Amino acid sequence: MKLQFSHKENIANNIWKFYFLAPQPVLFTPGQFIELTIPDINSDDRGQSRCFTISSTPKDKYITIITRIFDQKSTFKQKLIDLNKNDEINYTGPMGDFVLPKIIETPIVFIAGGIGITPFVSIIQYLYQNDEQRKIHLLWAMNNENDIFETEGLNKYDFKKTLIVKNPSEFWGGERGDLSLEMILNLATINDQTQFYISGPEKMVESLTHQLKENFNDKHQIISDYFPGYINY
Ligand SMILES: Cc1cc2nc3c(=O)[nH]c(=O)nc-3n(C[C@H](O)[C@H](O)[C@H](O)COP(=O)(O)OP(=O)(O)OC[C@H]3O[C@@H](n4cnc5c(N)ncnc54)[C@H](O)[C@@H]3O)c2cc1C
Repeated sequence: MKLQFSHKENIANNIWKFYFLAPQPVLFTPGQFIELTIPDINSDDRGQSRCFTISSTPKDKYITIITRIFDQKSTFKQKLIDLNKNDEINYTGPMGDFVLPKIIETPIVFIAGGIGITPFVSIIQYLYQNDEQRKIHLLWAMNNENDIFETEGLNKYDFKKTLIVKNPSEFWGGERGDLSLEMILNLATINDQTQFYISGPEKMVESLTHQLKENFNDKHQIISDYFPGYINY
């Protein structure tokens, strides 16, 4: 299946949003991802395909992805940033089960490390577009405040949001530090029914999933999605 590149936008620090048009409708549930392939005979050993969460919603005109572009980037990201308007790329999917529970009343804690916010961007935007109220507390951990970007849903949807910055400037008035189990237990609104969603760099997701399971003796449902290739958030 094909996607047609439209344009890109630098939404924060080194964070970019890429907009694509789909010649055929892409049926997906917010929180799911696609695998993009950009043919490249000179690709590095990470190859010519990458998975990305769809950050847009089924109601949006464009299919969007959000990613970091480092100075030292992979050949894949070089090709991605070099795409020209109307260039076509291949995708497979959408796929994945990082999606909301069917029962609307289930209280939810979203835990995002840096760019791991992308599935929550789509999920929260869709709830906002559909005027569907859920009990959500988002904990978004990041390296510094330059990594914060805003979206309509994140700004306007009625939910609890806590930003935790690891290396903040002196002007940062919010939570500070490295996201830990202790911090989650102190900050999050948790009861017996709470379902946890964790998304971000592999090490962070693995460690917090393990610690939460241990802490709650496997009583809570913990759904995780990790992004390989990111060393930290
Ligand atoms: C289900 C799923 C969903 C995903 N969704 C997304 C998504 O929505 N957005 C997204 O960006 N990725 C997502 N990923 C990860 C994505 O597929 C890539 O693995 C990731 O973006 C890294 O890309 P890259 O390998 O091209 O490396 P690049 O990002 O180009 O990194 C190049 C180099 O920089 C290094 N590097 C990594 N982190 C840092 C750091 N903090 N500081 C300095 N250098 C660093 C890397 O080790 C690497 O050597 C997802 C993965 C999966 C499996």
